[in-house]
Formats: sequence, structure tokens, C-alpha cells
Amino acid sequence: MTKRVTILGSTGSIGENTLSLIAHSGADTFNVVCLTANTNAAKLAEQALRFKPEYVVLADPHHAQDLKERLAGTDIKIGIGREALIEAGSWPADFIMAAIIGAAGLEPTLAALGQGKHLGLANKECLVCSGDLFMEKVKSTGTTLLPVDSEHNAIFQVLNQKRRKDVRKLILTASGGPFREFSAEQLAKVTRAQALSHPVWEMGAKITIDSASLMNKGLELIEASYLFDRPSEEIDIIIHPQSIIHSMVEYVDGSVLAQMGSPDMRTPIAYAMAWPRRMAAPVKPLDLIEIAKLEFQAPDDVKFPALRLAREALETGGAAPTVLNAANEIVVAAFLNEKVAFSAIPACIESVLNRFSREQSFTKPLMSVSDVLGFDARARKNAHAWISGNK
Ligand code: NDP
Repeated sequence: MTKRVTILGSTGSIGENTLSLIAHSGADTFNVVCLTANTNAAKLAEQALRFKPEYVVLADPHHAQDLKERLAGTDIKIGIGREALIEAGSWPADFIMAAIIGAAGLEPTLAALGQGKHLGLANKECLVCSGDLFMEKVKSTGTTLLPVDSEHNAIFQVLNQKRRKDVRKLILTASGGPFREFSAEQLAKVTRAQALSHPVWEMGAKITIDSASLMNKGLELIEASYLFDRPSEEIDIIIHPQSIIHSMVEYVDGSVLAQMGSPDMRTPIAYAMAWPRRMAAPVKPLDLIEIAKLEFQAPDDVKFPALRLAREALETGGAAPTVLNAANEIVVAAFLNEKVAFSAIPACIESVLNRFSREQSFTKPLMSVSDVLGFDARARKNAHAWISGNK
């Protein structure tokens, strides 16, 4: 049966990889029904003309006219703005790829969960900022949640979810990013261009900076805790520069099961799209002789404080992960705009978290989406204020 597919964030790195797999597998397998972007009207229109979805949405109204002109004469429905983006999440589909970047993906992804179908989760920030609320909605709607982040996809592939007590811990691997061997002095002088050149993975700008600061691994730690219902102490992080082992599960008898593959996001995307089957993906086969050695190191959370901050936020619970994520989004955007230094990233996040830690409601469970959005908005404001005072 042909699967109806929506891609929230189709113009990004995950979105484009998803479309390339759809093109590779032919029209009988997947039928693209809905695509969304933020500002990139040209790319969204190009995708729409090629894949002929029923509905396309551009979140930013400033580029609406451009999209309308590019799709004039077609019968593709066009939606503009935030409400339309949420409607895209509930557009009838069998598989929805959540690939918007940041907490901006929360509401459309929650709308997608409302369909109770299969959801491929790349947008880790929407789970990090809403935690238990998100997972409760997964359960109450009967959604099959398929992790797309390569580490969580790896764990999903090797974890026996039915026998919880058999599992001792989850081990997330991290490439270590481009600055793994840098000293603290070198890290202080890192430029935008250096931070944007990841040694292994090709990704969008924000996640590339998160990988360089190791905040990406911090967000993934929180993501893993919610996805697989494990406390912080049952999740380890190890540096594995080759990115061949995508993550592991350690069982109580000492067995460690790992999932391996070439570092190519099309593998976890294909796994999520075809689940519970598998589909062919044009990925370079793994050649272990060519790779020859796999290395492992302990992460350095003194040099990379983002890891420590994320672990503390997970252990604090309540709104701490929401605030961590929001402050990170703002300070990373400021770094990408060359307004702050690389070392400002953890400094800003820590300062914003400290400010919130005095509030009683900070450690209490989040009760609603408006709770999440309230903390998110205030954390962004605080991060902007910190940046203005530290330029
Ligand atoms: P990109 O920056 O490449 O793409 C982001 C997508 O989201 C684009 O379609 C963009 O539209 C859209 N978007 C951005 N801001 C908004 C907004 N405010 N409202 C609506 N849509 C918006 O990101 P990636 O593809 O790299 O990452 C997507 C998600 O997947 C992230 O959560 C990331 O952490 C996760 N991920 C990514 C991996 C990768 O290899 N790239 C690996 C594992 C996880 P436009 O193009 O118009 O700006």
C-alpha cells in the first residue's frame, strides 16, 4: 500500500534526505501529501512541483507572495503562517517526518501526534522542551514514535523494550565534533566557519554548532531519557570519532548490542519510513577493513560544559530542559550571526538556567503546552538580555 507522507521542515537537511529516499523508492511506495518550510519559498516550490503534494505551508508570511507566484497555475493548496503549519501536522498522512528545527516544531508535531499514526522524530528540541507531555500524547494517541536521530534510531534497533530489567544502560556515542582536541584557549577563539565544518556529518547550521559545543549530545541525552524512559544515571555518553557505532545498549549479562553503519542520515530515515520492514537506501556499505579502527574516549565536560548543563537540566526536571533548549537556540543564533563568541554558548545557557532556578515553578512538572511555551518565551527573552549585556 502506498504510504501518504508529510514532511514538516522539508527544505532542511533531514527533509531533503527524506525526499531523496522517496524519489529513490518510486511513487508506488510513498505519496508526498504535505510539505512545509519557514522562509525558503524557492526550494519549497521546487519540491512541490516535483512531488506534487496536496498542501504546502510556509511559516513566515514575508515570503508568501513569492511562493504563490511560483506555484501559480497548479492545484496545490498553499497555507501561510503558524496556524497553517499546525494544520500541516494534522493533514491526513500515514507517516509524518518531524524535521523542523527547534521548539518551533512543537505545535505542528503535537498536531501530527493527534493523528495517531507513524511519526519519525528528527526534531529533538520539541521533545526536549515538552518531555513527559509529549510522551503522554504519544501514548494517548497510540502513535508509533520512530526515532530518526541516528543514536536513538540505533538504540531503537537494538533495545528490547519489553524486558526493561534486562537492560543495564544505554550508551550514546558522539563524534566529539571538530574541536575534540582543542585546548580551552583554542576553544575561546573558535570562528563561525570552523564551527560549521563538522568532520563527519553534513547537517543544518544549528545542529552543526550544537555538535561542536556538544550541546547536541546533551539534548540527545534528554531525548533518550524521555524516549526510552530511563533516568540520567542509566545513560552514558562516549566519544567515538569515527561515528560508525551509532549507539549501544548494555544488558545485565554483560552483552553490549551496537548498531553500526556509514555515517549517513539516510539509514535511520529509511528505517523509520519503512518500519517495521526495511527499505533499500543508496548508502555506502560499511567497509570495516577500510575503517580499520574504532576509537573511544571519555567526554570532557569541563572543556565542553554544555554536556554537564544538559545532564543537570535532565536531573532537575520540570522546566529546566525547556529553558536550556530555548537559551541554547537564542545563543547559537547569536553565534551564527557573529554577535557572541563560541564560549558564550554555555555561559549564556548557565546564566539563564541560574536565573530560573530561584523560581518555585521551575522544578515542577509542566502541565500544559502553554506552560512549555511560557517558559520557552521567557528563557528566550533572558538569553537575549544576557547577549545584549555581553557583546
Ligand atoms: P535545517 O536547518 O537544515 O532545516 C530546518 C527545517 O525547518 C527547514 O525546512 C526550515 O525551513 C524549517 N524551519 C526552520 N525554522 C522554522 C520555523 N520557525 N517554523 C517552521 N519551520 C521552520 O535543520 P536539520 O534538517 O539539520 O535538522 C532538523 C531537525 O532534525 C533538528 O531538530 C535537528 O536537531 C534534527 N537532526 C538533524 C540531523 C541532520 O543530519 N541534519 C541529524 C539528527 C537530528 P527553511 O528552509 O525555510 O528555513
